[in-house]
Amino acid sequence: MSTNKSSRRQFIGDATKAGIITAVTVSGTNVLLSSCSSSKKTQVALPYSTGFEQTPLPYAYKDLEPVIDAMTMEIHYTKHASAYSKNLKEAAQAEGVDIKIPLEDLLSRISKYSTKMRNNGGGHYNHELFWKSMKANGESKASGKLLTAIEENFNSFDSFKNQFSDAAKSRFGSGWAWLILTPDKKLKIGSTPNQDNPLMDISDLKGIPVIGLDVWEHAYYLKYQNKRADYIEQWWKIVNWDFIQKRFEQYI
Ligand code: MN
Repeated sequence: MSTNKSSRRQFIGDATKAGIITAVTVSGTNVLLSSCSSSKKTQVALPYSTGFEQTPLPYAYKDLEPVIDAMTMEIHYTKHASAYSKNLKEAAQAEGVDIKIPLEDLLSRISKYSTKMRNNGGGHYNHELFWKSMKANGESKASGKLLTAIEENFNSFDSFKNQFSDAAKSRFGSGWAWLILTPDKKLKIGSTPNQDNPLMDISDLKGIPVIGLDVWEHAYYLKYQNKRADYIEQWWKIVNWDFIQKRFEQYI
């Protein structure tokens, strides 16, 4: 399979200039991103980099009602997501990982660590992104460069929504649906099992997460029971496109 080396170089150059990545390993057709932050001298501020601590929810538990009920939000944030952060820090201490590095860096070489690190590192990263990607009365659609990119990649915004919803509905068992920016700067839809994500070296789907939707039952079961498709359909009403667009523009 041939690869487009010039566009890859362009991406790498742009991403490096933007401080997103400082080293890239090319392995076959896969580009593995890593940020070389093990050396404090070369550490750079990554746009929207994620730490190991849980950050405050940017709204109240009840604010996403009626789409997501307050009880679900409270349990999800204070029990599930909180545990991922706590267990991640435990694993980091046990396995000698400095919790001052960006979590993205650790995820890019997660294959070298335990299953506990993988599950909780992914769990913590995914939820930190997920909370910020929602708000009360979200915009109905993307705009600006993100809308242009979505329309170029998926023909129309509605077509993108349908394909993303299908990925979320068809993920068997627990996992996440993703819109990602691939190393050749294309948008791509996919899903990952459990708490894996596209930053991980072990993931088949590789790129920078643009949108992640939690389709674990704990995210919707109290209100929607087994009806995951209804949860996904309603979820579009609380998407924080403003945050997603601004973050996306840091990576292109
Ligand atoms: Mn969750």
